[in-house]
Amino acid sequence: MSNPIGATVIAQALQQLDVNIIFGLVGLPVTDIAEQAIDLGIRFIGFRNEQAASYAATAYGFLTGKPGVCLLVGGPGVIHGMAGIANASANAWPTLFLGGSSETSLWTKGGFQEMDAITLLTPHTKRAIRPHTNTADAITSAIHDAYRICWYGRPGPTFVDLPTDFIMTPVKSTKSISRPPVSALSKPIASFEVVAAATKLLKSATAPLVIIGKGAAYAQAEQPIRALINGSHLPFLPTPMGKGVVPDSHPLNTSSARSVALREADVVLLLGARLNWILHHAAAPKYRKDVKIIQVDISPEELGRSNSIGEPALSIFGDIGLVVDQLTTSLAGWKAFPSSSIHASTSNSTFAQKLSNSASKNETAAHKLASSPTQPGKPLTFERAFHIIKQTLHSISGPENGDVVYIGEGSQTMDISRSIFPLDHPRQKLDAGTYATMGVGLAYCIAAWSAYNLPRKTKKLVALEGDSALGFAAMEIETMHRHEMDVLVFCMNNSGIYSGDTADKADWEAKQQRLLNGSGSSKSRDRLKSSSLMHEARYEQLATMVGGRGIFVRTEQELESATREGYAEGRVTVVNVIIEPGNDKNMSFAWMDTKAKSKM
Ligand code: ADP
Ligand code: MG
Repeated sequence: MSNPIGATVIAQALQQLDVNIIFGLVGLPVTDIAEQAIDLGIRFIGFRNEQAASYAATAYGFLTGKPGVCLLVGGPGVIHGMAGIANASANAWPTLFLGGSSETSLWTKGGFQEMDAITLLTPHTKRAIRPHTNTADAITSAIHDAYRICWYGRPGPTFVDLPTDFIMTPVKSTKSISRPPVSALSKPIASFEVVAAATKLLKSATAPLVIIGKGAAYAQAEQPIRALINGSHLPFLPTPMGKGVVPDSHPLNTSSARSVALREADVVLLLGARLNWILHHAAAPKYRKDVKIIQVDISPEELGRSNSIGEPALSIFGDIGLVVDQLTTSLAGWKAFPSSSIHASTSNSTFAQKLSNSASKNETAAHKLASSPTQPGKPLTFERAFHIIKQTLHSISGPENGDVVYIGEGSQTMDISRSIFPLDHPRQKLDAGTYATMGVGLAYCIAAWSAYNLPRKTKKLVALEGDSALGFAAMEIETMHRHEMDVLVFCMNNSGIYSGDTADKADWEAKQQRLLNGSGSSKSRDRLKSSSLMHEARYEQLATMVGGRGIFVRTEQELESATREGYAEGRVTVVNVIIEPGNDKNMSFAWMDTKAKSKM
């Protein structure tokens, strides 16, 4: 009997690693790997473009706390998948990428989809390797190593290059050393000295603040962090994907007083977040010049990284959950505020009062926009549409909303929806992330659906997609339907990127006509803007095209019933919500704190 082909060995290596799902797109030479994996009971989700497959694998790693796996063909497949490789690296999410490549005997001879992926990917991955020879042991070893490395330490992407002959021909030897399983690494605690120093610093603060990043969500540290906040009455601020680690509804949440919280805090406990653009590099005037930061991270390289404030006051190397347990014990009995709310009138802390005033003011303003009904004949605004979707979903799944997981992307859609949808559960929302990547949404839906609903359905996936964002990977609606994923997609359709082009349909059509005739002038009012997309395109037909449900919505009542029906649908549903185009009055990029220029 001849030896098994490499594809069999590769699939078995994945099975040994307890991989139960692969995201990818097949073609020569990797089809056999997918087929062998399916035969072993591993689920294979085949996408329509490697870019979406690669994004899905990264988010799966974040949600499950174990590496996501992505399978790509060589050359162009790896190039498309680089989108996910960069995304995994920027977000620090564990992802193993496997890529095919041309036959070793044809290297430099113009082989099929030939590309030196190792050289290309080495600077962008934690490790990019190729089995040194075509034996079961070398192939298994490479895959185990790459899996371990993407997961251990700070998570990120790794890559294994698999030449065609290593996949499609019998391996030279089946002899394989037995390997211990690659299980989760035991977690490090902090040294006692540094915990004591952090305790002292926190106790000395007049305006302490805990910042909760997506590292805390990835670390699944919600129980310890909730205990710390509840025990010490520390006010907290989540980053976009750190939301829900402590419920947004918690009275110590300072999200609606974000700028005041950052500007006034004198001691910040930073749990799993980098001091990058999302946190304004911890620079004045967004922060006090003398702010002291206690930084907790699993990545030693991140600790003490020089930012505008210079070195953080204290660097704590350790696992967030364990370090926070240590701090809770060490702070026992101490309270930042007498009451467990920033709104308590009994509080004699000026910090609490400033937070409370700012939160009340901002909440009132936001409530006003969301609660004013749409005038008859006028289009829906983003705020109003999100308010209706939220109210309807809450009325179905309860105010706690634990059955819904959200995906949000598109500049206006993501920014405006962020403050409207409260999240009470960790890992309940995915968005464009550290790399501000647009086009991840549908891929993330597939990842989240797989993470939460296999083998048993536990969550409804709701995507809030800008019309531009949806277009990056619209064909993945077919992937969802093929895999019977009952995702509810809202396309927030303002006919363009940002605020689109013009509110008026006749005006848009006249501009388009001038474009086609070549008779437009370069004056902006005479030509279609770069941000323009088709006026009121019928995106709901993406769903009906494959046998899903498509609903077109223009009014409040239509949106409410579409949300209700879409939630109950057992198949992929696209609700095309027509939003007022050409309106950039509310357009502020909260996370960059720059007002968009009107010409955008
Ligand atoms: P955000 O986008 O929410 O600001 P970042 O992605 O910038 O968050 O930061 C997440 C940080 O969390 C990374 O620096 C990462 O090394 C860290 N991290 C991930 N897992 C753990 C863990 N178990 N313990 C401590 N830090 C962690
Ligand atoms: Mg748009």
